[in-house]
Amino acid sequence: MLKPMARNAVQSAAPQEGMNPVFLSLAFKLSLSIFLIASVLLSSLGIFYIKKFASEIDKNLCQQAQIPGQLMSAGALPYMQVRDREMLSELVGEEVILAVVIQTDDVVLYSTDPGIEGRHTEEFRRYAELPGVAMTSAGSAIVHQQENGSHYLHISTPLQSEDGWSGSLYVRVSAVNARQEKTRSATGFVAGFSLCIVLITAVSALLVHLLSVPRLSAIGQCLKAVEQGDLERRVSRAKSQDELGVLGRGVNRMVGELARQRTEQEHLAVELEQAREDAETASRSKSEFLANMSHEIRTPMNGVLGMAQLMASTELLPEQREYIDTISASAENLLKIINNILDLSRIEMGKFQLNVDTVDIGAMLNELHSFFTPSVGEKGLELKIDCPEDLPLIRTDEGSLRQILINLMANAVKFTQKGHILVAVESLEQTGSECTLNFRVSDTGIGISKEAQEIIFQVFTQVDGSHMREHGGSGLGLAISKKMVEQLGGRLSVSSEPGKGAAFAFNMTVDVEQEGTGSADPSKVDIKKTFNGTVLLVEDNRLNRRVITKMLEKMGCRVEVAENGRDALAQLNLSALPEEQPRYDIILMDIQMPVLDGLKATTMIRAQEKDGFRIPIIAVTAHAMKGDREKFLEAGLDAYLSKPVRVEALAAVLKQFCRS
Ligand code: ADP
Repeated sequence: MLKPMARNAVQSAAPQEGMNPVFLSLAFKLSLSIFLIASVLLSSLGIFYIKKFASEIDKNLCQQAQIPGQLMSAGALPYMQVRDREMLSELVGEEVILAVVIQTDDVVLYSTDPGIEGRHTEEFRRYAELPGVAMTSAGSAIVHQQENGSHYLHISTPLQSEDGWSGSLYVRVSAVNARQEKTRSATGFVAGFSLCIVLITAVSALLVHLLSVPRLSAIGQCLKAVEQGDLERRVSRAKSQDELGVLGRGVNRMVGELARQRTEQEHLAVELEQAREDAETASRSKSEFLANMSHEIRTPMNGVLGMAQLMASTELLPEQREYIDTISASAENLLKIINNILDLSRIEMGKFQLNVDTVDIGAMLNELHSFFTPSVGEKGLELKIDCPEDLPLIRTDEGSLRQILINLMANAVKFTQKGHILVAVESLEQTGSECTLNFRVSDTGIGISKEAQEIIFQVFTQVDGSHMREHGGSGLGLAISKKMVEQLGGRLSVSSEPGKGAAFAFNMTVDVEQEGTGSADPSKVDIKKTFNGTVLLVEDNRLNRRVITKMLEKMGCRVEVAENGRDALAQLNLSALPEEQPRYDIILMDIQMPVLDGLKATTMIRAQEKDGFRIPIIAVTAHAMKGDREKFLEAGLDAYLSKPVRVEALAAVLKQFCRS
């Protein structure tokens, strides 16, 4: 699925803070460039023309200022007329400040200033002699001079009369008009060129804007839409062959490709989800099937084991006893496998519930020691238990812990030919109400290779198929143990060296039993003890009825049977007067029954019971789920026996609830 693009990517593309976006636009930058180029070019041109125009004005003024001298040389104007300033001013076109006709010996002949006539002065000579200022072919000289802020023009024109006299005419004019004209023309040029710059910039900006901005913004909007996950958007106006057209088509292609990939990803995600759901459904069906099958198998197993147990307690020929023992052992093994499958499927279905109770680890290990002593002795092995004496009572699911240890120890015995098996428990840490225990089952057997260690925790896995033939087993033990350890909050690990043995270990952090809150009660039952009571057995299965009835009778009980909950209620006759009701010391109640099941029947019995009288009702069920206990207690049951019913368990229940 295409997600909106990364935030920092978006941020990096965002306008800089405080900046007007207009100033960042390409059109603005292009217009600014054109403005700068036009300004430089047109300003240079303007300066060139202003200078040229100024020099033209000077040239004109110079020519004008030479007119009196030329007229005098031509004899059209007498020298004496130089005294007439106004006439001279008119001729020159500027106000004449001083005009002087000088002889070559520097004696002033005539002047607008009568005071200097006849005087010898070299003051005007320098204007005639200054180099680089000759402005006319007639040899006139012109000099600008700035005096007290006023601008003057000094012009010296050579005079030559026909009688051989020679001298020069010096004229000093104020260049006010020329200056004003220069200023006017410069202002005109500046205004004109500025207008040109503005017009050029405006027109070019408009063109740039029309040609690029809409197309660029179409590309920008398309990219923004893509950023926000909209892959339907395309760049419009992307047909032209210029760079923007190429860019637009490229963006469209890219967005198209992204859309295609997103569709593919969505399809893939749907398929994956479907596959996951299918796999989960298949796994659930498998687990449910396994649970149902093992449940169904447990009921007839009840008959096989029960009958074998009953037969074993009768007078038998040695050969018959051997057969019965074999039947019992095979049935036990089968039951073990069924229980394993049931546990595994419950864990996989998430229905496995812990039954946390007080556990005495030391006592449990002693029991396990006794349990394994015969098989260990048979193989000439040594079984060592290493458990600290001060280990506190803990709270955990005893059944699960026992099953894990049995699985590990059974494997250790199975795969060890000589040496020993060690079961060690160590308290790693104890903090007030909690302690962390380390359990370790090690052996000196055949060991497990590194590759095999990777797979042995998978279901139905055995390192070598020959193990199955040699040692039996279903490849389920370690898988279940691993899952159970996880349910108890630990992790089962293995370390091994082929030929030297294997060690399985796990840690478990558990609550420590606080004093006075309970105690481990592995109640030992004396199965020889007889009970003297009347039992109502509610059981729909004929075989089970027979087996349990026989067991009860052997223990000295009187047994009455009912085939379902409704029959049981009828038999109890709770609505009658107490003296008319039959007296039962205990009811053994099957749970799954037709017509009226055990839970409903119990609830109805409890509802009808008179004050102060409560008959113990014990569930007998193939639903040996640990979590069922709470459900049963809630319905009013006092305890439960799991099928197949064992003589010992039955005796323990009778001992607890029935007078002996
Ligand atoms: P099974 O019930 O077949 O023994 P498990 O799951 O308990 O199934 O064990 C799986 C396999 O792991 C065994 O078949 C065996 O190959 C190997 N294994 C388990 N425990 C040991 C051990 N203590 N020593 C050697 N191999 C072992």
